[in-house]
Amino acid sequence: MKITDLKCAVIGQNPVVRITTDEGIDGLGAAETPKHYLKPMVLFYRDMILGEDPTDVERVMLRIRRMGSFKPWGAAVSAIEVALWDIAGKAAGVPIYKLLGGKIRDKVRVYNGNIRFPFDGYQPEDFAANMQKMKDLPESFSIIKQGIAFHGSPMVKNMPGYYYGEYVPKDRYPNRGVMTEKGFKLTVDCVIAMKEVLGDEIGLALDCGPGMTITDTLRLAQALEPMNLMWMEDAITGDYTPYVHPDYFLQVTPYTSTPIHTGEQIYLRHNFKELIERNAVNVVGPDPLDVGGIAELKWIAELADLHGIQMAPHGTADGLIGLAALVQVSATLPDNYIAFELPTGNPAWWYDIIVGLPDPIVKDSHIQVWDTPGLGISFDVEATKQYLREEDADFFEG
Ligand SMILES: [Mg+2]
Repeated sequence: MKITDLKCAVIGQNPVVRITTDEGIDGLGAAETPKHYLKPMVLFYRDMILGEDPTDVERVMLRIRRMGSFKPWGAAVSAIEVALWDIAGKAAGVPIYKLLGGKIRDKVRVYNGNIRFPFDGYQPEDFAANMQKMKDLPESFSIIKQGIAFHGSPMVKNMPGYYYGEYVPKDRYPNRGVMTEKGFKLTVDCVIAMKEVLGDEIGLALDCGPGMTITDTLRLAQALEPMNLMWMEDAITGDYTPYVHPDYFLQVTPYTSTPIHTGEQIYLRHNFKELIERNAVNVVGPDPLDVGGIAELKWIAELADLHGIQMAPHGTADGLIGLAALVQVSATLPDNYIAFELPTGNPAWWYDIIVGLPDPIVKDSHIQVWDTPGLGISFDVEATKQYLREEDADFFEG
């Protein structure tokens, strides 16, 4: 089998990859919704993979993997990798998980970090009311992640005197600094209020940064130990920080029983190596659509498991194609698997154009792993055409 074309269309906000072959089998991949600008970067790899056999996934990846980098640049490589697995699975007539060694679980646990509600304020009662809405969702999530402190910066932005820095009113986490005692105490009280809503049957995870100092991170992790959190994520580095220094985390992780988490930004197993081998964190959260793909995430999970580190894949903006990739790989991960972050279709018409997902998708915080070949999903081409941009009108041809 040979690759005949690599196409990319931006559907809604998700760049979608389609690889075609000389045997009429095609494969799908995608990147996160905020990366709607990614199309030229995907097509950059086109000449490097044309004529290759897509079912030799690793051989194709060796041609392009070295040309990626930390988020967002690794996303194009990752989307292509997912499409190659889709083809390989379809060609063999098996779901992707079979090609990764088979599934370990028949259903995969998911957590909610995606379906969030606007805040009315940033006091403990507001965090409690907001958490109640997340708890009441029909998916019955058993783990819920909420942004706090520097994450998304609403506390930094909306609370005078929250920290000592000067607020930078820009997206993508430019703010860093030392919390005031007032800001610190308020953060603790907001977490306690959320935990009271959830009780001891639903786990609470916190997305905390990036932007917190090492000492504030340690102090917060220690203060929250009685809350038995699932994890504290990306407090020091993380979103839009293209470096992860294990030494930062090694000043926190060994000194608290609150699990410390990072990894959504990281591209390739190589960039997890030191973090994992030095036990700098307790939980890693690579995203299959940024880390280099499905098999890359599986490698990292196995290495993490060797070192007693847990795995909670990131996925909030991965869309429904990313959801299928997450289900396939999560079915194969070792016992260090906790749950992946459920992506949703955004806009909601994505649910009308993708065929093959269970309905409802999530029951009791789990997704049943489906057995259809490849990713096991496809486009309803006729229903999708209305959403194709003019320049992408030939996306489904060939
Ligand atoms: Mg995060």
